[in-house]
Amino acid sequence: MTTLIIGAGGAGNVCTKKCESMPEVFGKVHLASRTLSKCEKIQSECENPITISQIDADDTQAVIELINQVDAKIVINLALPYQDLTIMEACLATKVPYLDTANYEPKDEAKFCYKWQWDYQDRFVSEGVQALLGSGFDPGVTNVFCAYAQKHYFDEIHTIDIVDCNDGDHGHPFATNFNPEINIREVTQKGKYWEEGEWKEIEPMSISQDIDFPEVGIRKGYLLYHEELESLVENIKGLKKIRFWMTFSDAYITHLNVLQNVGMTRIDSVKFQGQDIVPLQFLKALLPEPSSLGENYEGKTCIGCIFRGVKDGQKKKIMIYNICQHQDCYNEVEAQAVSYTTGVPAMIGAKMILENKWTGSGVFNMEQYDPDPFMEDLNKYGLPWKVIEC
Ligand code: NDP
Repeated sequence: MTTLIIGAGGAGNVCTKKCESMPEVFGKVHLASRTLSKCEKIQSECENPITISQIDADDTQAVIELINQVDAKIVINLALPYQDLTIMEACLATKVPYLDTANYEPKDEAKFCYKWQWDYQDRFVSEGVQALLGSGFDPGVTNVFCAYAQKHYFDEIHTIDIVDCNDGDHGHPFATNFNPEINIREVTQKGKYWEEGEWKEIEPMSISQDIDFPEVGIRKGYLLYHEELESLVENIKGLKKIRFWMTFSDAYITHLNVLQNVGMTRIDSVKFQGQDIVPLQFLKALLPEPSSLGENYEGKTCIGCIFRGVKDGQKKKIMIYNICQHQDCYNEVEAQAVSYTTGVPAMIGAKMILENKWTGSGVFNMEQYDPDPFMEDLNKYGLPWKVIEC
């Protein structure tokens, strides 16, 4: 059997190397992406042989042919959110399980939401196919932390604050830790959180607060809208409020403001010397590839969830979090921690499916499954976590 991974960027590099190191679970590994040379580089760094090919994953028919050609038993989508639906279509047509790490967004509109993918529920159920959405860190591990807190620590969770701190330094004046186009679209859109049954929208980056990150210290976090909020409000019972916070350095924010002010983050096309170009895509071409940042990256990430709620009639507050060191990731798989914290959970999600620990037909978010086997594997495969009472 073959595990098919699509996307040879930062996360694809990590996931491929983790999967090929466990042939007893993943069988053969095939890596396909838009630029063959990126697959070749990863192939040359793998310990076990893998096969590779070039693919345009916007083309459903091409993905169907590739799935059949390599006899894939699972497709791990680590291309971009734009490709989610074409790859889901191909998985439906071939009846092969599907997994991704980011929800669909259309290229011409900076809007991400689960509706497009949740709309596939009936078709996946009737074809008997499984789709696991958002198996990265956030979304992904954060959803599993919520399911774990719900199962083991609370009768009712009332508030969740998902907190994401990258306290590392890559040495560039401005670079994004995952795909620049997707990252900049995410942080420049309006913020949003959910309270007492209602979504509340705010201007981009207009709410911030100091957050005490364990093993890091106090850092300023900005309230952003993040996709896991959408599924968690559906699946965590008794929830009254959920928010997502991310830290940014002052240099990042200054660069972003300038780029926005001069129009470089626009996603509509403009004429330049007789050609149509999209400024954000042009900017992406100028910025460092996220997969290239690892070598000189120092410091660590701290990502986790702070829960408040009730257990046995008593108020309770806990935090579940992971610390990941950039240099450790580079030494293991030539990656920085943001690629690592995305690629490892993608591997574990696929492992849950292939080992029949997470089963069923339909479209699933991570918190809908038993968190225990996934949490065990996080400890085994490089992303250990801690629970603290606070
Ligand atoms: P990269 O930009 O490093 O990698 C994306 C890869 O997908 C590139 O190799 C790119 O090819 C390839 N690709 C793009 N379009 C196509 C296409 N049409 N057909 C085939 N391949 C294509 O991004 P990352 O690795 O940083 O991110 C990968 C995914 O992970 C993204 O969806 C991102 O949003 C998600 N993510 C999720 C996180 C989480 O915690 N849940 C955190 C970080 C990222 P090329 O090299 O030619 O450009």
